[in-house]
Parts: sequence; C-alpha cells; structure tokens
Amino acid sequence: MRWKKWLMLIVSLIVLTAAIGCSSKQPQMYEFNDDRFIMDTLVHVRVISEDKLLGEEALETVFDVFENIHSLADRFAHDDTSDVTRINMQAGKKPVQVSDETLSMINRAQYFAGITGGAFDVTVGPLVDIWGFGQEHRVPLEDELEAVLPLVDYQQVEFDIESRAVFLPRAGMQLDLGGVAKGYATDMAVERLREMGIKHAMINAGGNVYAVGAKPDGSPWRVGIIDPRHDGGIIAVLNVKDQAVVSSGDYQRYFVQDGKRYHHIINPATGQPAHEMMQTTVVFDNATDADILSTALFVLGRDKGVEFAIRHGEMDVLFVTTEGEICYTGAMAGYVEFTGEGNYRILKDISL
Ligand code: ADP
Ligand code: MG
Repeated sequence: MRWKKWLMLIVSLIVLTAAIGCSSKQPQMYEFNDDRFIMDTLVHVRVISEDKLLGEEALETVFDVFENIHSLADRFAHDDTSDVTRINMQAGKKPVQVSDETLSMINRAQYFAGITGGAFDVTVGPLVDIWGFGQEHRVPLEDELEAVLPLVDYQQVEFDIESRAVFLPRAGMQLDLGGVAKGYATDMAVERLREMGIKHAMINAGGNVYAVGAKPDGSPWRVGIIDPRHDGGIIAVLNVKDQAVVSSGDYQRYFVQDGKRYHHIINPATGQPAHEMMQTTVVFDNATDADILSTALFVLGRDKGVEFAIRHGEMDVLFVTTEGEICYTGAMAGYVEFTGEGNYRILKDISL
C-alpha cells in the first residue's frame, strides 16, 4: 500500500506547474493542477500559490481528505474502516460507533430530510441497489420495489451525537451517503486549504465545486454549468468567489431502456427515478448543504423546488426541467452568463 502513496506523491510533484502573473508589483504565482478518481468520480483540484512547496502540499492534502471521507462512507468496503459498511452490516442487530465526520454527514442529511419531507433520504440504499446503480442497471419489478420501499425511511435511523452511535433498526436497511459525501469532503478540504494559507483554489468533484477566494487578479472564478443533454457543452457560467456551486443531474449515472431514461436520483416516496428535472444547481456558502440540496430539489421537482428555494432565500438555484426550461432565482442574475447553447427556454427570476 505504501508504494502507492509514494507514487501518488511523485505524480503530483510533477504536475503542471505554470508561472502566471508577471507584474513587477505582484509576487510570482504558480498554478498547480491534478485529477484523481475518488468516490466514483473525477476530483479535479486547482491551486494558485506563490509558494511552490505549499501549492504541491495543498493538492496532496485535498486528495487525502477525499480518500479519507471515501474510506468512511464507502458502502462496499472489504475491511472495517468504513463506518457506512459497518452500520449496514449491523442493520437490525446493534448500534455502531462512528467517526465525527460520518456523524456530521448523517446529522446534516437528517436535518434536510426533515425540512424537505424526506425528498433527501440517506436510507435510499436498497432502492439504489435494486435499480442496479453501482452494478448492472435494470428496471426492477413492481414486487421488488414494494418489498424494499418499507426499508427506506430516514425517520427510522437512530443516532446519538453524544455516544456517536448509529443504528438502522430493520434488517436490510442500507445507509447511502452518496448524495452528501462529495460535498462534505469538499468542505473539509477547503477548511484545510484555508488553514494552510491558500488564498486561490478551485475544487471540482464531479459537479461539486468550491471556489476558494478569487483569482489572483481579484476577478471571480468562472464555473461552467454543463449542458445536461450535450456532452462537453456548457449552458451557463457562474462568476463566484468563496461559494459552493453544486449540480445534480440525470446524466451522471443513467441507462436507457425502451426509449426511457432511468437515472440514479431516486424519489424515496415512489422508488422511481425523480422525473421533473434534468439538472439542479445550488449556489451556497458551503458544499455539504449545497450537495444535499441539489439532490433534494431534484427530487422535489420544479414547483416544490422553487417554493423551497424562495422560502430559504439564502441560497441561489438554477433548474433545468425535463420540459427544457431553465429557471433561476433572482440574485443569480448578478453573476450568471448564459452561453445560448442547447435548446432551452430561459425563464427569468423564478422568485417573482
Ligand atoms: P452525484 O453523486 O452524481 O453527484 P447526487 O449528489 O445528486 O449526484 O447524489 C446522487 C447519489 O445520492 C446517488 O448515487 C445515490 O447514492 C444517492 N441518492 C439517490 N437518491 C437519493 C435521495 N433521494 N436522497 C438521498 N440520496 C440519494
Ligand atoms: Mg448531492
């Protein structure tokens, strides 16, 4: 195992190091980039620093944080390092003591489950499994869905902050932190970058973006919102500083059967993939909440999603509905640029 770590260190040391900014007043800045496949997704990290060693160390730190959260939240771990695997193995048997990180993810997820009427539900695991996401995709039989639906209910999760114990009371229940772990890892990584004194960085973990500070010249980071129906296309650019921009979409993991698209964001109430949205994007001050909310709003659908976003005015949202409409909250008008790509109707300010 050790040689792997060394290999990774060497790879990131030879990562592209470009000198940028030549003004005599400004210090020489260097840019560091690297990608790694963690949590089933490509994690891309970009750091700009005047200190070469610090920049390289910063990249490594971000990947270490992601590896660590992945090892805690992995549903299919082969050893006992994963809290989630241990919780699931003890479902219906006994509570399991977990790390602070896992407890924080569950705590936050449960809060949003409560205020979204269960649209976000960390016990969605058995549904994700019968649709075969992670393995062989297939449309489950009605009977199979009926059999697992009673196992999906966030209100049955028992957890105690003091003793850090988590218990799934029914055998067959399965915790799945896939809708929160990338956002949480992003926030943990950003915290570490700030502690290290990094002022300019961007993390993108499969559509979970956080922009640290601004670019060195003070201008905002530009975050592209991908076209849900055109690989490589960008429908909009968001200009942001110190913000999380998180998208969920029906194009991340999906299959098509008999002309119908089935994807990995499941409505816990019906057991079916949620069908009103192609993509939801949430802009917020932290990636954990934005990750949970992008999934939750996807499930809530257009009208309920809009209502939720207006009621919780501190975040901005941009929705692409399956009808081909793009709608967004008013404040986003100040920092969104539409590219005009794709065949969408752009409806302004949904909060009016
Ligand atoms: P991605 O992981 O592709 O970025 P999301 O953040 O929207 O997308 O999370 C989707 C993942 O969350 C699924 O792969 C599954 O593990 C889990 N999930 C699916 N539906 C729900 C739901 N209704 N509530 C909570 N988690 C869900
Ligand atoms: Mg999410």
